[in-house]
Amino acid sequence: MTKLFGVIGDPISHSLSPLIHNAWFREHGIDADYRGMQVPAGELAHALEALAREGCKGLNITLPHKEDALRLSDEQGDIAQRLGAANTLVRTKSGGWRAENTDAPGFALALQNENVDLAGKSVFILGAGGAARAVALSLSDLGANLTICNRTIAKAEALAELVTSPCTVLSLDDGLTKLATADAVINTLSIGHSGASLDLPSGNDRLFFDISYGKAADEILRSAKTNGWQIADGLSMLVAQAAYSFEFWFGILPDTASALKRCRAAVEATQ
Ligand code: NDP
Repeated sequence: MTKLFGVIGDPISHSLSPLIHNAWFREHGIDADYRGMQVPAGELAHALEALAREGCKGLNITLPHKEDALRLSDEQGDIAQRLGAANTLVRTKSGGWRAENTDAPGFALALQNENVDLAGKSVFILGAGGAARAVALSLSDLGANLTICNRTIAKAEALAELVTSPCTVLSLDDGLTKLATADAVINTLSIGHSGASLDLPSGNDRLFFDISYGKAADEILRSAKTNGWQIADGLSMLVAQAAYSFEFWFGILPDTASALKRCRAAVEATQ
């Protein structure tokens, strides 16, 4: 019987995850169907009960449900516990859900694919939202020296508590004036979704990694490239976190290069 998988979020129609996972199912001869599932905030528990009854084996979880997914799970992986949020659920043998978080290792793999080693380097993280937590944890585990810059300082301070490597907190405005001192910049701000950009100094071939992609990253990455930064967008992180989810479900790490090509083509087709 065809097994059911999917991603739960709201909104969800934009998600590239069905494209990624259904292709991997075909590549690996797995009889399964991966769907986008729109579930409003506060309704994850009902959705999980219904999906368990339908025999669902695994799920990805995105906004606004990542914290609820951790809370509602029966078992939690180490990274999900440290981040306080889960993006992957795996059905357990006893019929419950095990929560994992693949955003942090996904970001680490995406960095590795850029051939940059940020151990001991000064890395500025712009933003302190949910995705910044995964980025900060990943960079901290890699041994980078972090500067977290955020409009709401209290959120940057809370994020600094999570990391174990040296960490400074700045307001976003202060941080943007000090980017000349960074070895690399990771932008996790969501401002690109409304077309906003950033005023960046000269990059001198340093890495500017925007974890957004498509239209949400266009203006900012264009500005970074014009100013001489080595740029990367968030599609490789998206594909890498998906690959680790697939590994949790099937014990196989799938091919990320072909998935990245498919995603890039899909994003370009909508621009
Ligand atoms: P959050 O809403 O949790 O965080 C948004 C961040 O942007 C906060 O730091 C917020 O600051 C800041 N921000 C928003 N508006 C403004 C503004 N007008 N001026 C200054 N700062 C602002 O979002 P996420 O962390 O979940 O996502 C961030 C981005 O990362 C999104 O574009 C998302 O699409 C992308 N993403 C990519 C992933 C991938 O796999 N590639 C995975 C997850 C997310 P404040 O705290 O002050 O509100």
